[in-house]
Amino acid sequence: MKIDTDTYYKQTEQRANLRSKLYGTIETDICIIGGGLAGINTLVELSEKNFSAVLLEEQRLGSGASGRNGGFLSAGYSVPINRLERRLGRKYAQDLYRLSAEGIEIVRRRCENSPQTEIDTEPGIVRMSWGKKKNNLTAQIDYMNSIYGTQLSYWSKSKVAEHYSSQKYSDAIFNPDAYQLHSLNYIHKCAGDAESLGAKIFEETTAINITRRKNSYIVCTNHGHVRANTVVICTSACQNYLNTKLYNAILPIGTYVLLTEPLFDRLTEAIRSPYAVSDNRRIENYYRPLRSTQILWGGGMSTRLKPNNLKQKMLKDLLKVYPQLSGISGQLAWSGTMGYARHSMPQIGRLKDNIWYLQGFGGHGLNTTAIAGNLIARAIVDDDDTYELFSPFRLNFVAKPLGLLGAELIYLSWKTKDLLDEYIG
Ligand SMILES: Cc1cc2nc3c(=O)[nH]c(=O)nc-3n(C[C@H](O)[C@H](O)[C@H](O)COP(=O)(O)OP(=O)(O)OC[C@H]3O[C@@H](n4cnc5c(N)ncnc54)[C@H](O)[C@@H]3O)c2cc1C
Repeated sequence: MKIDTDTYYKQTEQRANLRSKLYGTIETDICIIGGGLAGINTLVELSEKNFSAVLLEEQRLGSGASGRNGGFLSAGYSVPINRLERRLGRKYAQDLYRLSAEGIEIVRRRCENSPQTEIDTEPGIVRMSWGKKKNNLTAQIDYMNSIYGTQLSYWSKSKVAEHYSSQKYSDAIFNPDAYQLHSLNYIHKCAGDAESLGAKIFEETTAINITRRKNSYIVCTNHGHVRANTVVICTSACQNYLNTKLYNAILPIGTYVLLTEPLFDRLTEAIRSPYAVSDNRRIENYYRPLRSTQILWGGGMSTRLKPNNLKQKMLKDLLKVYPQLSGISGQLAWSGTMGYARHSMPQIGRLKDNIWYLQGFGGHGLNTTAIAGNLIARAIVDDDDTYELFSPFRLNFVAKPLGLLGAELIYLSWKTKDLLDEYIG
C-alpha cells in the first residue's frame, strides 16, 4: 500500500469512510478494476443500467491521476482535433469531437446539486497566445465554431491584460463551454451514486490476475476473489501485469501541480478573473485561481514521475509568468502519472470474449473518461457499437523502457521549439 500524496484535492476531500478490502469470494455480473475516473464512470453507468457491478481499487478511489489533476473539464482529446481531422477525415473528427463534448454533459449532469464537486465555479477557460509567435486566432475560432459547433470567442491583447497581468501573453481564445471541477469529489459523488444503486466498491484491494473458468472470469485479489461474467480493466499506466498487451500499450508520463499559499489581495496583482487558463505552447501551463485566493498551477511533462525540489521548480515556473508575485510561497506540490498511448488517444475496446479496457486518456481525461464509461456500458449492456469509433486508436506497442526515452526526447524537442517560438516568433 503506497502512502497517499498530499494534494489540494485530498485536503478538501469529502468522502464516505474507507470501504473495506475484499475478503472471500463475491459474484457479480461485471468486475471493474481501477478506481480512477475511467473505472468509476463505468461503474456508475452500469449501475444506472441495473447491472450488478463490483469495483476493485488498489489504493483509494482517485489515488491515481484522477484525484490529483488540474480539474479542467473541456471538449476534445490530448490530440488536437485538426490533427484527427487530417488523419481520419472531417466527418470522423466531428463524430469524435461530439462524443468528447457529450462527456462534459455527462459530468455536468452528475454534478447537479452537488456543491462539493465545485463545478458551479464560473465556467470558461482562456487559452493564451504565448510569446511573439503570430497566431491567427480569429481563423482558428471561425474554423472551430463552424466545423465543430463550439462557441469560442476572441480576446484581444488589451482584454487579456485587463484580466491577467503577464508580459508572456498576447491575445487569447475564450471557451465558455469549459468548466473547473473538483475531480476527487466528483469520483466520490459517482461512487456514492453507484453504491446507492447496488454497486460494491472495495478499496485497498489489488487485482492480481484474471483467469477464465468456463463462461466466467475469476479475478484474484490480495485477499479474495471476484467471479464475474465480464471484466473491465481501467488501470491506466500503473505498474501491473494484469494484461501484458494493455501494459505494453501505455507509457507513464508525469505532470506536476503546485498549490500556492492564499494570496488574498495579492492575487489581483496578477489575476482578476475566475476563469481557468492554459496556453498554446506544446508544453503548456494550466492553472486556475481558487476561491481561497490560492493558485492551482500545473505544467511540465516528463517521464520523471517524482522530480526533486518540485515546489521550488513549480514556483519558479509561476514567477516567470507573474514576476510581480515574487515573495509568495508554495504550500504544496505534487506529481501525477498520465497514461499515454503512442497515438495519444484513448484506447477503448474489447480484448477477447468479455474483457474490456479503457486507458490512455493522457492529459484530457475528465470528459473522455465520462464518455468512455458510457460507451463501454452501452456496449456491454445494449450491444451498442459506438465505441468502435475508437478502433483506429490501437494498442500499439510502446517498447518500454526505450519508448520512455523516446518520449523524453520528444518533450525536450518540444521545449526547445517552444523557446524558439517565444524568442524568435
Ligand atoms: C497532474 C495532472 C493534471 C491533469 N489535469 C487534467 C485536466 O485538467 N483535465 C483533464 O481532462 N485531464 C487532466 N489530467 C488527466 C486525467 O486526470 C487522466 O486522464 C484521468 O484521470 C485518467 O483516469 P484513469 O482512471 O484512466 O487513470 P487513474 O486515475 O490513474 O486510475 C487508475 C486506477 O487504477 C488503480 N489500479 C491500478 N492497478 C490496479 C490493480 N491491479 N488493482 C486495482 N486497482 C488498480 C490505481 O490505483 C488507480 O487508482 C491530468 C492528469 C494529471 C496527472
